[in-house]
Amino acid sequence: GFHKVVTENRKLYNMVQDLKGNIRVYCRIRPPFNEETKNVIDYIGDDGSLVILDPSKPQKDGRKVFQFNRMFGPTATQDEVFKDTQPLIRSVMDGYNVCIFAYGQTGSGKTHTMSGPSGGSIKDVGINYLALEDLFEISSRRKDIINYDIHVQMVEIYNEQVRDLLVEDSSTTKYPFYIFSSTSDKYFQAIRSCASENGLSLPDATMHSVKSTADVLHLMKLGGVNRVVSSTAINNRSSRSHSVVTVHIHGKDISGNILRSCLHLIDLAGSERVDKSEVTGDRLKEAQYINKSLSCLGDVITALAQKNSHIPYRNSKLTLLLQDSLGGHAKTLMFAHVSPEGDSFGETVSTLKFAQRVSTVELGAARANKESNEVLQLKQQIDNLKKALANKE
Ligand code: ADP
Ligand code: MG
Repeated sequence: GFHKVVTENRKLYNMVQDLKGNIRVYCRIRPPFNEETKNVIDYIGDDGSLVILDPSKPQKDGRKVFQFNRMFGPTATQDEVFKDTQPLIRSVMDGYNVCIFAYGQTGSGKTHTMSGPSGGSIKDVGINYLALEDLFEISSRRKDIINYDIHVQMVEIYNEQVRDLLVEDSSTTKYPFYIFSSTSDKYFQAIRSCASENGLSLPDATMHSVKSTADVLHLMKLGGVNRVVSSTAINNRSSRSHSVVTVHIHGKDISGNILRSCLHLIDLAGSERVDKSEVTGDRLKEAQYINKSLSCLGDVITALAQKNSHIPYRNSKLTLLLQDSLGGHAKTLMFAHVSPEGDSFGETVSTLKFAQRVSTVELGAARANKESNEVLQLKQQIDNLKKALANKE
């Protein structure tokens, strides 16, 4: 009964996803920190279109048009963002592997989207928490027909090295406590053998069973603390590392069918380019590692979107680790985060270009432009009316 329903559902979902493409790109713009600064956002369409304006150029030449699957403006709430992510997240309970990435320059809102504001408050929690809460709900709703076990791992990738973030007593563990270094194929082999044995897991990273949102909060706090511990050791490292939360789903239905899948929730390192003439030593090395791993990720997703026969998973630790969850029937969602401020314009364009490159959405330039022209015309009319009114008074 149930298994058949799930299979049917899955077939249907597959068909819809094949039509839509398994790679989605959402863009989120955080609220401006300072209302006084020039805002580069010109137009946000309900259809996922975005028009930005170069603050240093006259309106017409400085306009750039992008198209994504979905746009979230500065007023979008955590719940609104989650709602549009929920169906994708839920598919993990039907056996799909899912990856959700937060991409963007430091300060653009990646951690806000994935974790929420720091401080461990339940208010405004992000996708990580809301996702698990939702998975628990599904698990309890289906408990008569399928029994789910949910486990969580959390690691950090820094300079192509992987580190467990869910070590209970990190104070006794000398920093750094890496689990594998990048120097050999050992990690790759370990991941592969793990994958064939028990679904996909990260070897040597602790695996935590979670049964309630309280368990999740505890782990999120632990992971957060461990991330920060290292941040002070090497200043503000968290913006220069990727953090990967992996949720392992194991389900067994009444006829004994086993289902295994995982959901990866990834807060990527800041995508900002550093001026090579200004940084040296460790900082330069970090920048090069970040550049390399983010461009590898872009290459992999682009290759998948173009349905290439060769997918270059092995060029970075991150893509290697996520190999089973990128491509095939796996589902990928990337949040491109941008700041609205004029002084971030260069980084904003580069983030949007990256996001557009990995997106399977055709650039709907003509349409967005047309709408944008209408908006501009209306704006001009309002300005004229305001002037006329001012003259009268
Ligand atoms: P990142 O992780 O990309 O470096 P953060 O998520 O830390 O950026 O966001 C930078 C700051 O902006 C934080 O203080 C965060 O709380 C705030 N912020 C980001 N996005 C939003 C948002 N959508 N609404 C309100 N505040 C936000
Ligand atoms: Mg962050």
